[in-house]
Amino acid sequence: MNEVIVVGAGPVGAVSALALQQHGVAARVLEARAEDARADTRTLALAHGARLILERLGVWARVQDVTPITRIHISQRGALGVTRLSAEALGVPALGYVLSYAHLTEVLKQALAEAPIAVEYGVPVERIEPGIEAACVQAADGRTWSAPLVAVADGGRGTQTPAPRFAHDYAQTAVVCEVRTELAHGGQAFERFTPEGPAALLPKRDGYALVWTAASAEAMRIAALSDAEFLAALQRHFGGRQGLFLAATPRKTFPLHCVYAGREVGARVVRIGNAAQTLHPVAGQGFNIGLRDAWELARLCADTPATALGGEAMLHAYARGRRFDVVAGLGFTDFLVRMFSNDVAVLRHARGLGLLALEALPPLKAFVARRMMFGARG
Ligand SMILES: Cc1cc2nc3c(=O)[nH]c(=O)nc-3n(C[C@H](O)[C@H](O)[C@H](O)COP(=O)(O)OP(=O)(O)OC[C@H]3O[C@@H](n4cnc5c(N)ncnc54)[C@H](O)[C@@H]3O)c2cc1C
Repeated sequence: MNEVIVVGAGPVGAVSALALQQHGVAARVLEARAEDARADTRTLALAHGARLILERLGVWARVQDVTPITRIHISQRGALGVTRLSAEALGVPALGYVLSYAHLTEVLKQALAEAPIAVEYGVPVERIEPGIEAACVQAADGRTWSAPLVAVADGGRGTQTPAPRFAHDYAQTAVVCEVRTELAHGGQAFERFTPEGPAALLPKRDGYALVWTAASAEAMRIAALSDAEFLAALQRHFGGRQGLFLAATPRKTFPLHCVYAGREVGARVVRIGNAAQTLHPVAGQGFNIGLRDAWELARLCADTPATALGGEAMLHAYARGRRFDVVAGLGFTDFLVRMFSNDVAVLRHARGLGLLALEALPPLKAFVARRMMFGARG
């Protein structure tokens, strides 16, 4: 009964359970997917701060298939202004790390099994009932569990997801695939802002992971192009910095929006990760914030006497402690999307000046980079 129930074994739920156990708090995980289900094909860029959390959990050493980002080139199409970030200049081994969502989920699954932490696969949670002494979780098969604290890490896909406090539909969709280019990436990522939406090339193995954002109808058209048409369109969109685009894997699409549901659900229930906030992937912040949610919740649980675990005071302290980081991350991401996804001349010039200023002022650049690596308290 004194174990924390975590709903969802996505990356945030899995990290949450591992962090709780490391802090001496027992956890049980309920996951809707079958144990052998394949995770989706998205690519994640982990910030350096996220690596530090995975290291503390002993998970990082198991991650085999990871490509470090040592430089980032930021530009806008058809206008002045370029900024370059470099790991060396900032004194860190890498600005971030690129890996597939599926690989990370698999590594975390093994870590959960070896911990050992009880994970029930193929168990979609249908109802979560807040309560004074304990919350009650009911699965679709009718089984129930009671716990002093339930951490909802269902990615916002649960049946009881509330009306968000703040939501914005960018009417944009991300086209995601992997591409190969004529020139080697040398650890460099590209973030290119265009009036239709941002596009990112993240170094991954010997090629790139591409996240190409466009207005939804246009993105669906792009995703349906033949390989040759797609590569030609990408070449026009990105230019020739990496030589020719040579090959692309099948394209997948993800509709993009910003949703802030908040962490408070009711007595003894808290939301973490995408269940609490879903961000546009432009700044690669979503999972990184979710990971800090999971880590901070575990720390707070460890610092709370067993009798007060999951109580009102603890949940208030958690919500208060996470507000600044989350609101700053949401605000920064939302600002980037709105500021850069348009072709208003005055804003185009302002953006160019902003990128030039960032390039010319190393302390400002270091400030921005640190916040992207470690969050608002970086
Ligand atoms: C195209 C794209 C690119 C992205 N790139 C980045 C990036 O570069 N960097 C970054 O930090 N973030 C990125 N993100 C965001 C990142 O993918 C999410 O922040 C992250 O996956 C959130 O993890 P999570 O565990 O909270 O939720 P999820 O990954 O959605 O996992 C939720 C889990 O809960 C389970 N579940 C759902 N409902 C139930 C239920 N009722 N009962 C039990 N289990 C349930 C699901 O099966 C799943 O396993 C990107 C997102 C997109 C769409």
